Amino acid sequence: MVAAHDQSETHRYRVHYPDHAPREGDRHYAAFEEYRRRTIATARCAMAVRYGTGVHCAGGLELHHAAVEFAVANEVDLSLVMRDFPEVHDQESFERWLESGATQLVYLCTHHHRGSAGVHVVSAADWSAAQYAPGFLL
Ligand SMILES: [Zn+2]
Repeated sequence: MVAAHDQSETHRYRVHYPDHAPREGDRHYAAFEEYRRRTIATARCAMAVRYGTGVHCAGGLELHHAAVEFAVANEVDLSLVMRDFPEVHDQESFERWLESGATQLVYLCTHHHRGSAGVHVVSAADWSAAQYAPGFLL
């Protein structure tokens, strides 16, 4: 039996971002802001929704691009996105979905978005485990 324990994890790797325009200049960015305005009053961190009050949330609510980050959009294989998201059927619907789709935008608190337990910080394996073990990410 291995006794329960905490351990620190460090991940270091490189990613490639293709050329992309500033997000604020994107013609669909207004849809992102409109989605936020329309939903923020009743929004909760997706981890809190999943676990109730037993999960530690901290900071304000942020909208996470759950499937495709804006900065990577120019390098996406559209056929793969269309396979998983039927509402995407061409470049225009992809760009609209990227910034406004309920299947693409997920509310997370700062802790679960960019903090030490954040989806942008922890490995995919650790994030996945946390979906079933609420106390896994500290
Ligand atoms: Zn949270």
